[in-house]
Amino acid sequence: RLEISKLTRRYGGRAVVEDLSLSVPPGQVTCLLGPSGCGKSTTLRMVAGVETPDAGEIRVDGELICANGQGLPPEQRRIGLMFQDFALFPHLSVADNVAFGLSGAKDAQGRRVAELLERVGLGQYGAKYPHELSGGEQQRVALARALAPNPSIMLMDEPFSGLDNRLRDGIRDETIDILREQGAAVLLVTHEPEEAMRMADEIALMRAGRIVQKGAPYNIYNAPVDRDCMAFFSDVN
Ligand code: ATP
Ligand code: MG
Repeated sequence: RLEISKLTRRYGGRAVVEDLSLSVPPGQVTCLLGPSGCGKSTTLRMVAGVETPDAGEIRVDGELICANGQGLPPEQRRIGLMFQDFALFPHLSVADNVAFGLSGAKDAQGRRVAELLERVGLGQYGAKYPHELSGGEQQRVALARALAPNPSIMLMDEPFSGLDNRLRDGIRDETIDILREQGAAVLLVTHEPEEAMRMADEIALMRAGRIVQKGAPYNIYNAPVDRDCMAFFSDVN
């Protein structure tokens, strides 16, 4: 479970994330949805530990990982990351990319990698290199790599925006199925209402650094709290 409490981040006196609280239980997908510049990526970076909040707390499975502007380093947070630019290592094979964040005995690593590649439908691809794969396949390798350390939290920042429309829907659904099955608490950033409607158990609608509405997709769509929220969903059908 991910718990964020009263998180605030300022740049030069301006708060880009303000007093933001959110809780994501295991096996649930929460979407941070909002227009460009509203503070979605900044929020994710603070949870990941690559950016320091000015105020607020973050807990993973009850353990305080960040408070009072201090926190655990990213690699100790049991958090998996997936971003738009999946950044596989071009000089490493698919198997080595997936194994990258693993430690421990080589044969145990090999078994884990094989199991993960199987799970994302790329059981035969271990010896290939990223440039030999399609965008969708690379995306699945990135998912396998993010899952490798068995993180209890998965952070995803517009991970599907680089894919063409034809591929995207299938990969979105597959990815979510795999994450649910792993029991990870997923925080997914998007600026596309349609993507949030499709993937989220809960949507947190953000505007100017704050959450303005939170709830099940259906409820947010049907009962927007104000005109701006309504307008934001107007192109979904
Ligand atoms: P997008 O949908 O375009 O990715 P976002 O919601 O992810 O937008 P953020 O990247 O979190 O937005 O940025 C929020 C605000 O903070 C923006 O106004 C941005 O210009 C500002 N910002 C982000 N990083 C910095 C920084 N390092 N220094 C100063 N301002 C920053
Ligand atoms: Mg962003």
